[in-house]
Amino acid sequence: MTQKRRLGIMGGTFDPIHHGHLVAASEVAHFFSLDEVVFVPTGLSSHKEGAKIAAAEDRYLMAVIATASNPRFSVSRIDIDRPGPTYTVDTLRDMRRLYGEDTEFFFITGADALSKMLTWHDTDELFELSHFIGVTRPGHQLTDPGLPNGRVSLMEVPALSISSTECRDRVRSGEPIWYLVPDGIVQYIGKRGLYHEQAA
Ligand code: ATP
Ligand code: MG
Repeated sequence: MTQKRRLGIMGGTFDPIHHGHLVAASEVAHFFSLDEVVFVPTGLSSHKEGAKIAAAEDRYLMAVIATASNPRFSVSRIDIDRPGPTYTVDTLRDMRRLYGEDTEFFFITGADALSKMLTWHDTDELFELSHFIGVTRPGHQLTDPGLPNGRVSLMEVPALSISSTECRDRVRSGEPIWYLVPDGIVQYIGKRGLYHEQAA
C-alpha cells in the first residue's frame, strides 16, 4: 500500500507575509512529516471585508519571494484567481479536485483564526476535507473549541509576536520591519511603495 502524500495548506491574507507565518508552516511541516506546504493567499478576504488590502498580485508575489528558497514550500493562485471573497471550504474543495484522493490535507491556522472557525461556512464539510492544525500565537488563547475529535490538533510553535497589521503600521510610520519579514519582502515593499499611504 502506498502512503498518501501529506500536504500542508497555509491560508492567509499575507499582507505582507512575515516570519510568524513561515515559522508556523515550517514547524507543522516538521512535526507532522508533511511532504510540502502550499501557501494560499486569499482573494478578497471574507473576514476582512471593508479593510483595504494590498493587491492580490503583490501579496502573491511576496509569498513567492518569501518561500522560494525552501524546497518544501510553494504558493498557489487558487484563491486569488477565483472571483469573490475567499471561503476556506472553496479552497479545500478546489485543492481536492486538483490533488485527488491520494493526498491528505493539513490546514494550518494560528490560534486566532482557529477560534473563529466555528463561525465559518460549512464547518462539517471542512473537517471532512482536511485535518486542521492550530498553532500557538502570542496574544491569543489556543483552546480546543469543541471541534470534532481527531480532526483538529493543537501545537505549540516558537512565539513570534509579529502580525501583518503591525508590519503595515510600521511601514506607514517609517519604522523598520527588518527581521520581522524576510529581507526580500522589505525590499519588495520598498520597491512597490506598499503600505506607505494612509488607508483610504
Ligand atoms: P493581519 O494582522 O493582517 O490579520 P496576520 O499577521 O494575522 O495579518 P494573516 O495573513 O491574517 O496574518 O494570517 C494567516 C494565518 O497565519 C492565520 O492562520 C494566522 O493565525 C497565522 N499567523 C499569523 N501570524 C502568526 C504568528 N505570529 N504566529 C502564529 N501564527 C500566525
Ligand atoms: Mg490575521
